[in-house]
Amino acid sequence: MRQHGKLEYGGHAAPQRTCVGCRVRTAKSELLRLVRVEDHVVPDLRGRLPGRGASLHPSLSCLELAERRRAFPRAFRVTGPLDISPVRAHLEGEPRNVM
Ligand SMILES: [Zn+2]
Repeated sequence: MRQHGKLEYGGHAAPQRTCVGCRVRTAKSELLRLVRVEDHVVPDLRGRLPGRGASLHPSLSCLELAERRRAFPRAFRVTGPLDISPVRAHLEGEPRNVM
C-alpha cells in the first residue's frame, strides 16, 4: 500500500534525511528539499524538481551552517560557487514550513 500526499509524523517507516547544515537526522517531512538549477540552489517546495537533492531544516541558522561548511557544493557534487539566495529569500519570507 502506498500513501500519497500525506505527511507522516513519528511513524517508524517515515524516511529520514540528514540536514546539510546541522547534520541532524530528521524525518524527511520536516526538512526542506533543495535542488540545484544550474548555479542556483532553489527550494523544491513540491518535491518534484528532478536531480540530486539536499535536505535542510527550514531555518536560516541551518542555511548559514551549510554555507559555512561548504555543504552545498559537496551535496551537489560541483566545484564552483553556488548561489543560495533563492533559499535564503524563501526562508526569510516564509519562516514556517510551507506545504
Ligand atoms: Zn539543520
